[in-house]
Amino acid sequence: MSVNTVAPAAAPPAVIAERLCVSYDGGRVALAEVTFSLAPGEVLGIIGPNGSGKSTLLKATAGLLRVRSGSLEVLGKKPDALPPGSIAYVPQIDAVDWSFPATVRDVVAMGRFPKLGRFRPFATRDRRLVEDALASVRMLHLADRPIGELSGGQQQRTFIARALAQEPAIYLLDEPATGVDAATEETLLEIVRRLAGEGKPVMMSTHDLERAREWFDRLLVLETRQIFEGSTDEVLSAHPQLAHSHAHGHSKP
Ligand code: ADP
Ligand code: MG
Repeated sequence: MSVNTVAPAAAPPAVIAERLCVSYDGGRVALAEVTFSLAPGEVLGIIGPNGSGKSTLLKATAGLLRVRSGSLEVLGKKPDALPPGSIAYVPQIDAVDWSFPATVRDVVAMGRFPKLGRFRPFATRDRRLVEDALASVRMLHLADRPIGELSGGQQQRTFIARALAQEPAIYLLDEPATGVDAATEETLLEIVRRLAGEGKPVMMSTHDLERAREWFDRLLVLETRQIFEGSTDEVLSAHPQLAHSHAHGHSKP
């Protein structure tokens, strides 16, 4: 038992959404009446069928979409009012343009750019963070390869490494485990749980609930509107059919 028995003050939530509604320009509502909060060190799984608003919620939390009504606070502020680099947002892999000629290491180094600003050069610490991130996702041996030549799993690892190198205060991951090989999925699970152990908040969308209890502390089930929200155990115990409704196989490494 620790001698430091003074309980820490409960940390304020990392994300607070209240009756959040988001719509695209000229479009209908893509997300409605979403209410949840996420504590530091918790992993929130966002689930729901295609078109249910998972990516929309992550983009809004990243400050990339305007809130139409309701409220959304990230680390106590509107997401677009946070210091640069506070939020790491990893888009769905199929939303990425692979035509630019960058190596894996180049892409990971981009994670440092928000915190470099315009005047501070890339320094020893930045280089070390990039190498550490490459090691975390087990991509050091592929660091000099052009990103476009890699498998989906390797590309996903690269983007996770870029997020790690950023040293953000919160991670938003859009279906990082969809379509990746089994080894990549294990690496991602290990990293996500490590981040939570370090007190980082993580929001992550997924199709696959088979191992939801290993991945997620809480679940948010969307179908444009919020269907359920609660601890993973609460949601899966109340709705056991969820765990079997989105099963899929692995791709090759
Ligand atoms: P999911 O990630 O759960 O598959 P999305 O958040 O991508 O769902 O989409 C939610 C809804 O918003 C869908 O009806 C989709 O067609 C719509 N939508 C997504 N992106 C755009 C966009 N850029 N412009 C207009 N509508 C969009
Ligand atoms: Mg999506």
